[in-house]
Amino acid sequence: MRIVDIRQRTFPLNVAIANAAISFDDMTASVVAVVTDVVRNGKPVVGYGFDSVGRYGHGGLLAERFAPRVLAAEPGSLLDGSGRNLDPDKVWAAAMRNEKPAGHGERSGAVGLLDTAVWDAVAKIEDRPLWRVLHQRYGRGPAPTAVPVYGSGGHYRPDGNVASLADEVRAMLGLGYVRVKIKAGGAPLAEDRRRIEAVLKVLPRPDRLALDLNGALAPAVAEAFLDAVAPYGLGWVEEPAPPLDFVTSARLAERYPHPLATGENLFAADEARNLLRYGGLRPDRDLLQFDIALAYGIAEYRRIVAVVEAAGWSRTRLYPHAGHAFALHVVGGLGLGCAEAGADQSKLFGGFPAGVTIADGRASLPDTPGIGFERKANLFAVAAGLVDG
Ligand code: MG
Repeated sequence: MRIVDIRQRTFPLNVAIANAAISFDDMTASVVAVVTDVVRNGKPVVGYGFDSVGRYGHGGLLAERFAPRVLAAEPGSLLDGSGRNLDPDKVWAAAMRNEKPAGHGERSGAVGLLDTAVWDAVAKIEDRPLWRVLHQRYGRGPAPTAVPVYGSGGHYRPDGNVASLADEVRAMLGLGYVRVKIKAGGAPLAEDRRRIEAVLKVLPRPDRLALDLNGALAPAVAEAFLDAVAPYGLGWVEEPAPPLDFVTSARLAERYPHPLATGENLFAADEARNLLRYGGLRPDRDLLQFDIALAYGIAEYRRIVAVVEAAGWSRTRLYPHAGHAFALHVVGGLGLGCAEAGADQSKLFGGFPAGVTIADGRASLPDTPGIGFERKANLFAVAAGLVDG
């Protein structure tokens, strides 16, 4: 078998929402299709990957470097021992040929997107959902039946008010979520307090609510913010420090008694190691949110899991960023702690494929081969043209 083509497209998301760091009005994302010569049901098997949202598309890097390298590799050098399927680690190594160490960030997102599509193809060729493939190869314990998830939303909106934020959270609870996360730190503290307290009225316990500060606050402002919210006893506060400021991270972790979370803006195992060495985080309560697709995909994420465990942390402290189906499969397959979920199905990047149900804060796992992008109609409509046209 061989990869016959790698196609990609970058598209606008067209959403008017914001967090404390950025507005999403101009945000883009990329979709990639890895076309193989394996035929199932009369059609070639195609693996699809979609970006995790928040760092723009990766079309240029894919087109200039990573796709041409994979397509230029001798086809047999990319196969597993059976010769009937791709070996994702070999494809990954071909994409990363002649890349210097470090310099993660944009490159890691492009390679992670390609890796997502390769794994989708591999699982389709095995005729199994991706989480089952991953559990068999890298999982722990019995196969999962469902995955803990939390509903992610509560952005600042142009027409936003406290009542509509509470309605949004109420809707998430109605969908089956029990834990939710909202944005904070992008408004004056008094307004954020009103937002927090409106949501706490909807939730049965304060530790069901998490706040995401998106690394945007100056250290002194973050300190004051954490002091102000400490009495609530929230589930976690996310990115109170700028992502690479480990000294501030350590100072805040010393000051704030409840869980903190960070890591979505670190993109490789060596960056994860630095965070654990110097960021002052506490393995008994804090959460690590490295984004699988933005951090080079599953090959590198397995190295991140190894770094985390070698540092004395449980892999259940890993709550990967990105509320998409690919992350859900990896959380289930690798036995991580919890998956983020974009609760609004109407968004391209929100929600899971049809057939995934949320109940009591847990998501069922897809049973279709691969990742299941084909069963999220609005997202797949963007990708289908890549192969049909
Ligand atoms: Mg975040």
